[in-house]
Amino acid sequence: MDNRTEQLADGVWRIEVSYAINAYLLANDGHGDADGLTLVDSGTRTSGPRLVRSIRMLGLAPLAVGDILLSHWHADHSGSAARFVRSEAAPRVHAGLADLPAVRGDDPLPQRSAAHGDVSLLGRLLARYLRPGPAISGAAGLADGQTLDVAGGVHVVAAPGHTAGHIAFHLPQQGVLLAGDAASNLLWLSRGPGPLRSARRQEASTLRRLAALDFQTLGVGHGPVVSKRARQRLAALADRAQRRPQHLGLDST
Ligand SMILES: [Zn+2]
Repeated sequence: MDNRTEQLADGVWRIEVSYAINAYLLANDGHGDADGLTLVDSGTRTSGPRLVRSIRMLGLAPLAVGDILLSHWHADHSGSAARFVRSEAAPRVHAGLADLPAVRGDDPLPQRSAAHGDVSLLGRLLARYLRPGPAISGAAGLADGQTLDVAGGVHVVAAPGHTAGHIAFHLPQQGVLLAGDAASNLLWLSRGPGPLRSARRQEASTLRRLAALDFQTLGVGHGPVVSKRARQRLAALADRAQRRPQHLGLDST
């Protein structure tokens, strides 16, 4: 295993697809590819070959990827999904309901169409630079509370804040929470850059809800996995978000 893939639990791996951008791979049967593989996020539009190499390096077959779950529409998460769909693997792609128009290509400037007060002034100015990845017209929606028959059961948790349709994935059997960009761990565990958020009024309650889940290992969209005091650190972040909802997002815990 090279230093860009890492096992979080049985059948759960992190793949660093480019500098500080993560995708996660799940074995549907909990250990190998016999029952198919599920990808959580897909990196940028140039991450496809890297993802394929990493999956092979883990001794698994890229063609076994039958589903891609997108935490949100941003192009550093949805970027390679369209290319996977066109490949021989032809996986199904899923995203949170409110992010579907962006993922499907029906809303090319989602940050601009967000409700007033959900995007900061700087966020609105940056909106035209924040475009979704290549469109996936057949993407399907995932709703809060759904359980996917993957890796012993993956729970879909609505996690609006970073985007309106942002979703997280809870794997209770493995004690893993894949939080997408609800939290970021680049220099420390934080909320990530504030102007990128398009549902910021819901961020604090989302962090609170995620911190209340039962997990020991926290995988995020950017930066290393958190395996020590992960729940406590996420709860501390929720406290900060509640006290200072309008910050730029580079706070530490
Ligand atoms: Zn991201």
